[in-house]
Amino acid sequence: MNKLAISLFLCAALLFAGACSPRSLPRQDPVPESLTAAESTPRPETMNAGGSSPEATPMAQQAVVAVAESGALDMSFPQTFAITRPDEKISTTLTSYFITGTSDPSQPVYFGEEEVTRLGSKGLFGVHVDLAMGDNTFTFSQGDDKTTVTITRKPQTTAKITGLVQESIYPAFNGSARAGGTLLAECTAPSGAKVTATFEKQTVELKQVAQANAGLPATFRGGFTLAGEYADDETANAGKIEYTMTYGGTTKTYESTGDVFVAGANSRLAVQVSNYLGLVYPDPAVPSSFREKLKKGGVDYIESQTNDHYKLSSGGYLPTEAGRIIEGKVAVKNTLSSVESASGAKFESYTFKGTITPVFFTKMGEGTFSLTLFNSDGMPAVDLSSSRLFSTAEPTVSGGAVTYEFTQKVQGNLWGYNVSYTGTDTVLRFAYKPHVSEGDKPLTGITIVLDPGHGDQDNGALGVPGKTGPDENAVNMAHALLTRDLLEKQGAKVLLTRSRKDEFLTLDQRVEFFEKSGADLFVSIHHNSLAESTDANTVSGTEVYYHSGLSRSTANKLLENLTAGTGRNKRKVAQSYYRVTILPYAPAVLCELGYLCNPLEYENLTSAAQQEKTAQALVSGIKAVFS
Ligand SMILES: [Zn+2]
Repeated sequence: MNKLAISLFLCAALLFAGACSPRSLPRQDPVPESLTAAESTPRPETMNAGGSSPEATPMAQQAVVAVAESGALDMSFPQTFAITRPDEKISTTLTSYFITGTSDPSQPVYFGEEEVTRLGSKGLFGVHVDLAMGDNTFTFSQGDDKTTVTITRKPQTTAKITGLVQESIYPAFNGSARAGGTLLAECTAPSGAKVTATFEKQTVELKQVAQANAGLPATFRGGFTLAGEYADDETANAGKIEYTMTYGGTTKTYESTGDVFVAGANSRLAVQVSNYLGLVYPDPAVPSSFREKLKKGGVDYIESQTNDHYKLSSGGYLPTEAGRIIEGKVAVKNTLSSVESASGAKFESYTFKGTITPVFFTKMGEGTFSLTLFNSDGMPAVDLSSSRLFSTAEPTVSGGAVTYEFTQKVQGNLWGYNVSYTGTDTVLRFAYKPHVSEGDKPLTGITIVLDPGHGDQDNGALGVPGKTGPDENAVNMAHALLTRDLLEKQGAKVLLTRSRKDEFLTLDQRVEFFEKSGADLFVSIHHNSLAESTDANTVSGTEVYYHSGLSRSTANKLLENLTAGTGRNKRKVAQSYYRVTILPYAPAVLCELGYLCNPLEYENLTSAAQQEKTAQALVSGIKAVFS
């Protein structure tokens, strides 16, 4: 896959919430962040230098958003004839392609003999072409300038491999087994290979699970019956599994990336969430639904595991990359002694004093909210005498778990909720809905996090001018800074997850920033793109995504105001699982303001006047949210 294609899909790939699967299962979400970040197209060096030579490269008279933190955000792009996508000879399996370019708007552009329709005023264009198998050449011209684009279409084939795929080797993260029990051995190897695994000085031959043509990736699986000596009451790190593969006359040896942990006869395997967020799936094959978003530190017993997931005793599947197996003497038992109530102007909280950090499960019902703490006992009462939200909180114990069912006094005041750990205490925080105030600073007392998507080496989507114009990173930042300034004029306290184009945060860092901010709203700002095979002349407009039901009406209000204020196509509000939107601490939404791959919309999204209008529309929407 060429670099351009990778960068265009990066926006979507980076955003999804699902934890990474070490093997590339056919899912949309689990593109490991590290992988996509590493593969992203490096920030073009020429991007900010374009305006320095006006004779050679006449630049549009466009916005330069001067900002102290980030320097000038250059929104200009060339108005000279050039094909910007593809910007080199490419080969692809796509059956059609959207070729884009820049041009001098005062002269016609031709595709062969036919004049290209340019809907904007700044010379950008795109032409959707069908691709035949083999070489396809397309000729574009403006005046005496002529460019021929060559796109080679090749058949879709699965690449053959000659060795083991390292990430497929069990365990990729932590692996587990019980003394005297079975230990899994598994990897992806070329079909037809001979594969053995060695552990505890035993060697077993792995069987190919399904037939395939020689050399194609195939799963090989086997297992050991553990016979080694292990302390009865402990879980011990027993090291890595060694794999040996013979294929095509060559023998190679590999070692699992992760270690195997073995529980003694009287010990149970347990896992502790090691990532900031540990998403638990009710069904590991359906990455779009979460049972819960656990926090770092949460512990639970493991029922079973694969290379991808631990099955937790509380129910649900935690990705193996998000947890670490607990070594030594393991006792997952939380004894609750008391519940401390606290409140502030914007929230009330309940601290469940315990002895460990248990995994939890939250559930919003009609006028109810419940919190279940697993592997827990004790039912201390909750003091609700100063609660603005709840009238009762009844504890029940069932199956080794304690559940508190809260009944709301009046619906509509609950703005968000959060579970976190402090030491061995579990803290449940509820946010109140803030309201606009009278006067010329109606957002006084309201804190808003603005999150400009991508950053630094992660440029997000490239626009129609490709590397010769501002990318998504820059356009997101321009909108965030303008919106920040307008919100502050309305009295809001605004926090930016990042304020520089060359700054990058992981998705979890952005969510953690939100959780620590005490904010009343989280708005992530992005711009859209499409697959290179799509006719982007026909797709434009704004979308707003949310995850929690508590964020739905916020998403609707922002979409209404954004499209009314900008005149852009009102596409949709949709529930999704973009990782930055999943924490229900307060409403959290992700705005895709428009399509950078659509020539007309790109001109609109990079114009100073339209950016100002968009920021104003976003502010109107935010005011509506708190009205
Ligand atoms: Zn994006």
